[in-house]
Amino acid sequence: MTLTKTTCPYCGVGCGVLAGADGTIKGDPNHPANFGRLCSKGSALGETIDLDGRLLEPKIEGRAAEWDEALDLVASKFSAAIAEHGPDSVAFYASGQLLTEDYYVANKLMKGFIGSANIDTNSRLCMASSVAGHKRAFGTDTVPGVYTDLEEADLIVLVGSNLAWCHPVLYQRIVAAKEARPAMRVINIDPRRTATSDLADLHLQIAPDGDIALFNGLLTHLADAGKIDDQYTTQHVNGMAEAIATARQSDPTDTGISAQDLATFYDLWASTEKVVTIYSQGVNQSETGTDKVNAILNCHLATGRIGKPGMGPFSVTGQPNAMGGREVGGLANMLANHLELGNADHRQAVQAFWKSPAICTQAGLKAVDLFDACAKGQIKALWVMSTNPAVSLPDADGVAAAIANVPFVVTSDIMEKTDTNDLAHVCLPATGWGEKNGTVTNSERRISRQRAFLPAPGQARPDWQIVSDVATRMGFGKAFAYRTPQDVFAEYVALDAATSQFPRDLDLSIFADADYANLIPTQWPRNDQRFFADGKFYHPDGKAQMIPVTAPALAKPRFQLNTGRNRDQWHTMTRTGKSARLGPHLAEPYVEIHPQDAADLGVTVGDLIRVESTYGTAILRALVTPRIAAGQLFAPMHWTRQLTTSGTVNSLTAPVTDPVSGQPALKSGAVVANVYKAK
Ligand code: SF4
Repeated sequence: MTLTKTTCPYCGVGCGVLAGADGTIKGDPNHPANFGRLCSKGSALGETIDLDGRLLEPKIEGRAAEWDEALDLVASKFSAAIAEHGPDSVAFYASGQLLTEDYYVANKLMKGFIGSANIDTNSRLCMASSVAGHKRAFGTDTVPGVYTDLEEADLIVLVGSNLAWCHPVLYQRIVAAKEARPAMRVINIDPRRTATSDLADLHLQIAPDGDIALFNGLLTHLADAGKIDDQYTTQHVNGMAEAIATARQSDPTDTGISAQDLATFYDLWASTEKVVTIYSQGVNQSETGTDKVNAILNCHLATGRIGKPGMGPFSVTGQPNAMGGREVGGLANMLANHLELGNADHRQAVQAFWKSPAICTQAGLKAVDLFDACAKGQIKALWVMSTNPAVSLPDADGVAAAIANVPFVVTSDIMEKTDTNDLAHVCLPATGWGEKNGTVTNSERRISRQRAFLPAPGQARPDWQIVSDVATRMGFGKAFAYRTPQDVFAEYVALDAATSQFPRDLDLSIFADADYANLIPTQWPRNDQRFFADGKFYHPDGKAQMIPVTAPALAKPRFQLNTGRNRDQWHTMTRTGKSARLGPHLAEPYVEIHPQDAADLGVTVGDLIRVESTYGTAILRALVTPRIAAGQLFAPMHWTRQLTTSGTVNSLTAPVTDPVSGQPALKSGAVVANVYKAK
């Protein structure tokens, strides 16, 4: 059996996979993300490539249709909406499952040809707060570090990150590094005790949204202990005095962490030069997500612990191609290739390169706002690409109603039945993992190939081609005459070269003469290169900016709902739900509840609990565990309305977002009105 080198379609670690058409799956021993390792989800990929449930032909109002008829209808509906109501009356909602080539083409159509920036993505739920925090601190959206920093660090701080379940191969790399160097220390900061906590030398069971107070306390401690790197900050950092003065107003004991544990954490951080702070959704998915990010970055900037081997802040992305989407402007507030939507020179340069009739001039609607606009009747035509917002967004029932309110909805997806497809007028069959070709970028800026090792099933087409086909029918054929994903990638690289006069971090020159077919996993701007080693940042004066951040008053409801993911499932289970091996790990919707709370409610293990919020209701199996703090609940978001009739977890969560990044507060945003034992 010939095995094809490709990349795992799940998390942002971006592991290399050797895959065969017979379902053979092996870790690629030569891929620098995983060196042959795979987690349970990656190992079971071979069980997910059958065609059960696949959408294999275009559907219009549920009936089979020819491609030409479906594409003509989509193009005419979008053109008519734009003609009658203007470019901002249409929207695309894309996905971190898309390949970079797909993202590039969709972004180009919306921003350069339709002339709106109403393209956002489920990656908004993943790392938008990190993007915003990076831009405030560094002047650009840059992940400074590389994976080998995790192995070179003497102290790893994991904040709001259950790496053991959500980025398992990175976790495995840290486990191996810790075994090789027992002096390495790991501190885990999480309101729950998770599988990741089991590796930690110290677990800080922080109150939800206590992160700013905690890191402001650390910054204050660094200042008082004489651990600020004065030479570094003088040369390379602005805003330190203001940031420290604001930090002093925080009380880290508000976090619920004991004074002894705070002292241990602060002393260890202050006395260890090689510190990597990894953070993920527990930081990003918050009303104060961007400020949390900056609270972490402030500590690294104040000590110069950034851009050097074994040290730095490290945002790990959830989606496999969240980073690629960022690169090509797949967010409503970004232009392609890390150029600035708010910069007229950048807009003009992109428009000139695309030879486009229009260019968006202002930011579009971010995910939650986009569906709010649907609910208000402002969006007349919506295209959802490769994602299921009717389940994955907060206030999921409200989002489903909002989609139902849009006069024309098109989806492109691999599956026939999804909660969102059920609301669409047109469903277009897309090729899936193993059937399509293109590139993805992982959390350490490494671009890898996804390669097809299976034929396209039925009439399925790659997303970049579907978007190009619609663009052509809208009258933009000349600019979308791509024959292959390589054509798209070449244009993406050429746009970078054509705009090289604008200083920014993205630098694709290493890919200028790349052999696309045989592309080996490669980091931009150079393999193994960290950013900011030279102390040069991207603000106009070349310095970084420390941001004063104020800790919020912490909510203390009787119950607070935290949401997240299981080890063996991926998002709405479209693919992982097919695997017999993955299913049994945690087989049904559940909620973690503390033993004391369970006793108060008269609940024992296995009982059903009814959870109610302002937005909806879900009935979930009780998992009684001291790993969760009293007064808190945790429930995974995987089960869709197709899989459970008891209510989706995101029917409970509130459409509350961080005001800077627009990222939903899925970790603590549900105001639980009532919890009781279900009859
Ligand atoms: Fe796939 Fe992530 Fe597991 Fe690697 S760690 S095999 S990328 S799910």
